[in-house]
Amino acid sequence: MTDLDCQQFVEQVTAFLEGGLDPAEEQRFVDHLALCDGCDRYLDQVRQTVHALRELPAEALSPENRQALLNTFRAKH
Ligand SMILES: [Zn+2]
Repeated sequence: MTDLDCQQFVEQVTAFLEGGLDPAEEQRFVDHLALCDGCDRYLDQVRQTVHALRELPAEALSPENRQALLNTFRAKH
């Protein structure tokens, strides 16, 4: 088992927030978080975004909107 790199971290952020990682994946995710300030900040941003999205009506939560938002954060990372 190898450590996550930042790219893999970004790919797993959504699954992590939704509780979709298995325990081994989650452990690697948390390990990377502890070591990488950039990903730590990134997760905070995504968390705030997800929280903001939950405040919106259901129709604003289309997969396209959500993906576009995530891509925006991804580009900044
Ligand atoms: Zn990282």
